[in-house]
Amino acid sequence: MPSVYIKTYGCQMNERDSEAVAAQLVAKGYTLAPSETVADVILLNTCSVRDLAEQKALRKMENLAAEIRRDRPEVVLGFMGCMAQSRGQELIDRLPDVDLVLGTQKFHRAADCLDEILAGRRDKIVDVAEEPGSEATIREHLLYGNAAKNGAVDGAGHGPPRQVSAYVSIMQGCNQYCTFCIVPYTRGAERSRNIPDIVAECRQLVAQSVKEITLLGQIVTSYGKRGLGETAVEGGASVLASRLVSSLALPNDTGAHGGTRPALQKSPFVQLLDAVHEIEGLERIRFTSPHPKGYGDDLIAAYARLPKLVESAHLPVQSGSNRVLKLMHRGYTRERYLGIVEKLRRARPGIGITTDIIVGFPGETEDDFEQTLALAREVQFDNAYIFKYSPRRDTPAADLPDQVPQKIREERNQRLLEVINEIGKRKYSALVGRRIEILVEGPSKKNPARMTGRTRCKKIVVFDGSERHRGHSLDVKITRAGSFTLYGDPVILA
Ligand code: SF4
Repeated sequence: MPSVYIKTYGCQMNERDSEAVAAQLVAKGYTLAPSETVADVILLNTCSVRDLAEQKALRKMENLAAEIRRDRPEVVLGFMGCMAQSRGQELIDRLPDVDLVLGTQKFHRAADCLDEILAGRRDKIVDVAEEPGSEATIREHLLYGNAAKNGAVDGAGHGPPRQVSAYVSIMQGCNQYCTFCIVPYTRGAERSRNIPDIVAECRQLVAQSVKEITLLGQIVTSYGKRGLGETAVEGGASVLASRLVSSLALPNDTGAHGGTRPALQKSPFVQLLDAVHEIEGLERIRFTSPHPKGYGDDLIAAYARLPKLVESAHLPVQSGSNRVLKLMHRGYTRERYLGIVEKLRRARPGIGITTDIIVGFPGETEDDFEQTLALAREVQFDNAYIFKYSPRRDTPAADLPDQVPQKIREERNQRLLEVINEIGKRKYSALVGRRIEILVEGPSKKNPARMTGRTRCKKIVVFDGSERHRGHSLDVKITRAGSFTLYGDPVILA
């Protein structure tokens, strides 16, 4: 059978989509090639969030066409994902060596399309049409895919090692239309899977030794707000899962910390968290990416009453200036954002808070930027992903006046980075000497002789351990803090 190599650009959603495509192809008999130089099929799963990511994928494909196709003209080349969705046929017009362009709602058709091309029934395929129900198609996992590909074995010498942590796609698309963001155009409108299907997938992963699940979507806190997909129920009937959601709403909310709270209207997302939390054997639940607008009191209360929901929140603020937040169409103010942070810290003392910030958004003045610096200092983020604004075609922000010159974007990026690094250094150093629980994920990427795990706040801890620790929750004593990495020793209990 042909072998396939998938190169992924961009976010965790893309990583997850690539994994699901790889699993689908393996199920059809394809093998995973260890590198592009020996693969029969090379797919680039693309990102459109920044221009740089698009240019990288285009250059990569140009090189593949020039180098690989020259020696092996039968190799199939394809684009998938966001850039495939937004550019479609244009990609083949520009790069005639490309055989396949597969949009974001068509990942599940990868095997069929490749079969057609490899069998010579079709020369080129461009499929970027919308497809109802496609949100439920990203469900196959390739838990041992990368490990198997790299020939890894477990500590006892047989088989690839267990995967401890897995991503589960719960929804696709976004209706927020932030003015800088291309996602609503490349991923389409919000479509959510139903709770029983998601829970079944999570249960299966836990049965395969997964301990931590990250619920994934472009705007997970909007999960289910526009209805849910269909689900099959016992007896063969099919019902709209939105009905199941309302039946899950509880009149009262008995917290893990005791006491009965007054009735809280639970959003579909919190109902999903409740349902996943019930899974026996699952130790940790995370989610990404949320939107600050979605942190209602029900979600904040969930942090207080669901122990498996880790004390870690990614709250993308983007700017500290209300004027810029309005231009971005973010739907919250600086004050509302700070209020959420305060409530979260009250619900879960010690919660780790990370964020995304864009510097140099069109019209951002020095005063606006200083408000962002001040907000970063006030919140004391555990970490922040800083992006220099990158105009994306067809987004409203690209046409806004007062685009900020590149030099100023660079300079603001540097200044903010210094603030974030300084806060991070202080926060990480404060953990030295403390005893912290980690979930061990596997060997350290930088030094495979050592192991890494993550704290519940998602901080990386490197320690001297072995394969037998993989998948275990351990207490470690932090001995040293590096740049956004901790070093520790396992605590030997008396
Ligand atoms: S909420 Fe996130 S995915 Fe949706 S438009 Fe805004 S930045 Fe893009």
